[in-house]
Amino acid sequence: MDPGRVAGYPPTMEQTIDGRVRSAVDAWLRWLPRWEVGDGRSRTKLCRTCFGSPVAKAAGFDADVPHAVQHALLQRLKRIVDDEVAHYTERNLPLLRKELGAIDRRKAARPYRPTEGLPPEYEGLELDPDPEPGSPFLFTIAELAAQEPAEPQPELPPLSEAAKQALRSEVALADGCATSTGFAICAALEPHREQLAQAIRRHVEPQVQALLDELTRELFA
Ligand SMILES: [Zn+2]
Repeated sequence: MDPGRVAGYPPTMEQTIDGRVRSAVDAWLRWLPRWEVGDGRSRTKLCRTCFGSPVAKAAGFDADVPHAVQHALLQRLKRIVDDEVAHYTERNLPLLRKELGAIDRRKAARPYRPTEGLPPEYEGLELDPDPEPGSPFLFTIAELAAQEPAEPQPELPPLSEAAKQALRSEVALADGCATSTGFAICAALEPHREQLAQAIRRHVEPQVQALLDELTRELFA
């Protein structure tokens, strides 16, 4: 190994944003043939990952592409942003790292975390279907997730005004890292747009059209 080379730097192709976007696109292309129209969970709220996302626009997704299809790619790409911000924080932002570490320890003390460790297709989607009006239910997954930790965790010590100010500067730097990673992802999607459009034409549009035809038949039967 080159003695001047720092371990892990420069990044290999797999570690660059371009390489990681390509892997995310490939994983989505492998997943898409299994998608079925109508098995998307109903949403009552706008998805914070997808709604108005410049990344969705860069991928060439328009309003006709079902949310579950968009979400599956955007959530994979969001993981790239999260990883970049986590690495940047780890290396450069000691105060934020300490605060996040304390929050993580509190989270880890919760008994059941249904929203974590899900495949990216499901991450960030609502856990429970909307309740049928009038039908009884015993509990919802969201309620379980909201349960209190098994052991009470100590409150975080309050921060001084100076520490809060320093923390705010670090949060702004972390936001800047997220924004620049987002721009890099949008640029890296450019060469994949045609491939994404083709996959939508092949696997999504026929299903959506069949569903619309079916609805039309039912309405006018
Ligand atoms: Zn979404």
